[in-house]
Amino acid sequence: MLNSIAIPSDTPGLTCALQYYRFGDQGKGAKIFMQAGLHADEQPGMLILHHLLPMLEKAEQEGRLNAEFIVMPMVNPLGMAHLQFHTHRGRYHPQTGVNYNRNWRDLDAALFAHSGDLTGQLGQDPDANKALIMRHLHAWYDDFKPVTAIDHLRHAVTKEAMDADMVLDLHCDDEALNHIFIAPQLMPEFQDLSDWVGAAATLTEEDSGGGSFDEVWPGLWIKLARRYPDAAWPALPLGATLEYRGQHDVDDKINKTDADNLYGFFAQRGLITDQVQSPPSAPPATPLNAMETLRVDQHGLIAYRVDLGANVKKGDVIADLIDLDGQGFARKRTPITANTDGVVISRNMIKYVQPGVSIAKIVGKDPLPWRVGYLLED
Ligand SMILES: [Zn+2]
Repeated sequence: MLNSIAIPSDTPGLTCALQYYRFGDQGKGAKIFMQAGLHADEQPGMLILHHLLPMLEKAEQEGRLNAEFIVMPMVNPLGMAHLQFHTHRGRYHPQTGVNYNRNWRDLDAALFAHSGDLTGQLGQDPDANKALIMRHLHAWYDDFKPVTAIDHLRHAVTKEAMDADMVLDLHCDDEALNHIFIAPQLMPEFQDLSDWVGAAATLTEEDSGGGSFDEVWPGLWIKLARRYPDAAWPALPLGATLEYRGQHDVDDKINKTDADNLYGFFAQRGLITDQVQSPPSAPPATPLNAMETLRVDQHGLIAYRVDLGANVKKGDVIADLIDLDGQGFARKRTPITANTDGVVISRNMIKYVQPGVSIAKIVGKDPLPWRVGYLLED
């Protein structure tokens, strides 16, 4: 069923709507939440969900859905409107500069501020504790009054995501292999998700420092268990960011296969009744702070020496940076070398770079001592 929620505008005379689909019976069985296009300029996920929608509809019509599915194929209509000089942006909110996938609300802090200390109300029944928390969360939700358009949009999305058992946020990188961001507490429980996604890397971090959308939902329960260690808690909800290749990889053939694979993940977990073959195994998860974000310290033009998927060693040349200034103008090449052993999972589409720009992500196994604090790219 198609739903539409009006999102008030920050400017007169404009409106926009958050449109999304619901399949299955509300409140019956597990709740699965999927969205694409939070970074509105990342559209592989939109095409993946486009292909998944008829599969969910068919399963619903045939009585094979064992869960409720919320699907938001275009979760960020505000970002879709960000056109400038015939170019679509969509990663940052133009009024505030806020990255659409950063600064999502810490629900544990919001709950504590709203409801106070719940120690005396929590016991040894995880289901009862969950029900109590959800009641308080809904009370907080109802009392929260969004003001700006982005607040309204986030609030509408939060309503459907906050009680979901699985929250999957579909993104893409620049030019990349499939990879996943997930909390370490959810692995290896969800190794099957990595397998089905065909993830070249599954990168674990509980708090990357950015308030990413996927971290909010398991993060609430991780923090509650720390705040109230004597109470019993249910299994964590799944929250994960699925990075589907790069921005140019919006393609029926590959994205239909991605949709089939997501369907396979749900079917194998019994959320949809169907027979599926297990996918090949993906590599085990590694800590996000073991991934090098290789940056340049000069401007120039990047010429890569390695392809995506290359296994590199510390000291290997990843690319040359061609000078666009000074004595070496348009002639001098400076090699840019890896600082860790690992697999190259991401490169840049745009080869003109400036100081501080990341040019590759190299997934290693061991945490890198300088990778502390904020772990995301921007
Ligand atoms: Zn993104």
